Amino acid sequence: MAGKTDENTDAAEKVIRIAGSITVDELAQALGLAVTTLIGELFKNGIVATINQRLDFETAEIMIQELGMTNVRLERKNTASKLTNETRRELSKDAVPRPPVVAVMGHVDHGKTTLLDNLLKKKTVEKEAGGITQHISAYQLEHEGRKITFLDTPGHEAFAAIRQHGAMLTDIVVIVVAADDGVKPQTIEAIKFAQGANAKIIVAINKIDREGADIERTKAGLAEHGLMPEEWGGDVMMIPISAKTGEGLEKLIESILLVADVEELKADVKIPAEGLVIESHMETGKGSVVNLLVTGGELKTGDFVAAGGAYGKIRTMVDFRGKPKGKALPSTPVTVTGFKELPDFGDKFLEYADEKSARKAALLNAQGAANEMASANVTSTDLLRMMNVADNAKVFNVIVKGDVLGSVTSVVDSLKLIDTGGAVTLNIVATGVGDVTENDVYMAVGDNTVIYGFNVNVPVNIAKQAARDGVEVRTFKVIYELLDDAKNSMEELLGDEVIEEKVGEMEVMGVFRVTKSELIAGGKMKSGKVVPKILARVMRKKEILGEAEVESVQKEKIETKELIEGEVGGLALKTEKKIGLEVGDRLEFFTREVRKKKLGA
Ligand code: GDP
Repeated sequence: MAGKTDENTDAAEKVIRIAGSITVDELAQALGLAVTTLIGELFKNGIVATINQRLDFETAEIMIQELGMTNVRLERKNTASKLTNETRRELSKDAVPRPPVVAVMGHVDHGKTTLLDNLLKKKTVEKEAGGITQHISAYQLEHEGRKITFLDTPGHEAFAAIRQHGAMLTDIVVIVVAADDGVKPQTIEAIKFAQGANAKIIVAINKIDREGADIERTKAGLAEHGLMPEEWGGDVMMIPISAKTGEGLEKLIESILLVADVEELKADVKIPAEGLVIESHMETGKGSVVNLLVTGGELKTGDFVAAGGAYGKIRTMVDFRGKPKGKALPSTPVTVTGFKELPDFGDKFLEYADEKSARKAALLNAQGAANEMASANVTSTDLLRMMNVADNAKVFNVIVKGDVLGSVTSVVDSLKLIDTGGAVTLNIVATGVGDVTENDVYMAVGDNTVIYGFNVNVPVNIAKQAARDGVEVRTFKVIYELLDDAKNSMEELLGDEVIEEKVGEMEVMGVFRVTKSELIAGGKMKSGKVVPKILARVMRKKEILGEAEVESVQKEKIETKELIEGEVGGLALKTEKKIGLEVGDRLEFFTREVRKKKLGA
């Protein structure tokens, strides 16, 4: 269990496997270090630790990096219920081909939804007629007898969350780029996601029917971000399409199948069913409604399953169109009922022989998660806070409410991805599914906590209560807008910054008048220039004697607009206190601007 280490010293690289956490003593032993050395290193990073203190996985990882032990790799033992890249099953020789799992991503308005709709030749209305009115998070299409599974990732949020859970279940990412708009921030984000998930990338250059569409320029933009088109000698297929007219879609589908062939995607089917929870919510009359993506085995109605701390017997199972389905093979998305509680988005599910085993597994999962949480005294968040965050770092408190568990997870995960460079700490006070409630407002009072609602309502009485208590409730239907708002709010917290720019310097050669409010002096410009109204700093060697403002500039006793490098002239300066200026001092001229601090700047 937690803390035990397995060492593999065959290779030059050393692998330490831990469950959720490891004690300082155990880590020191595994690293071959004196425990005092490790405690010392922790101390340097702001952590006062004892021998028996537990460090969580990320903290241990960071410490190994800090110690410069590049040949040591920390691995998670496969005890958690989440599907991680490492837990992806080793295939047996009986493995059979499976459909590719594809995510469509791209900048907002570049045509993801239109593309998916057109590919599936079904409109949103039909989806709802299919009986599942809630989020449908995966679809399948069939082309010449072969299937392709699409994960719907509206605004990537689902994908971000899935990635966060380490579930690398996407084989191929189709990046949609509008040919009349080119590479945009979320295009780059999509590229990064795909690369991080180790997925193959296919680019769909969309909207080629539009005036202003420029396929070559779009390719050049992508090449700048490391995606080299095949035609240019690279390895990325870029298919010009129009999601609207349907042009190029056949070619896109064929390209997806081609990549799938090259990748030889397979899965075992003669094993207990397993897969991932991709969405879950409660429905009146049905209880928990859970979308699963099967990744191995064959899931059937009547099977006993556990996912995270939830278990149950599959009561009903339908495909993405809402049609009943008796069994589901790998890469198939299905919607099931029968879980006794709501499993978490990103939880791995497994089939068990009987109810008792499924219940026991769920119990162990829940306990394991609780133990891991309880036993890790020092978390990576604490550590990062100590390492990166200045003492005066600002905290942005939020409560997140969403329509379904998936959207809550997604919003939270996406919020966490906002890079504040350590300047602002995001503090998620609470999260939940459903409309904003009295309790949410109650929790938010007093701490400048913002309540974010994603696809949820704020009942009128709650809005009134919030207004009365001075609590901000902000609702969104588009995740980017929510994220932009959060980013802006965090920037607000940063306050102002003062930016000064030096524009010139004068050496003082004569001092003609020094009073409480005025200085009149002459000298030679050593560099740059001086103009009226600019600020001046009076310097004696490295010491700052005071600040003044240039009132007027004279050249040969005549008022002028500026003096430049090499010129000699006189200045009248306004001061707020008497500055004992002397010959030989310097005047540094500079501009000063106060502006809002930006994140990451
Ligand atoms: P998403 O935000 O990426 O899901 O983008 P949408 O699919 O909602 O598309 C945004 C807008 O672009 C909509 O008005 C679509 O009708 C339009 N659009 C999408 N694809 C095409 C295309 O190939 N050609 C043209 N002319 N318009 C398109």
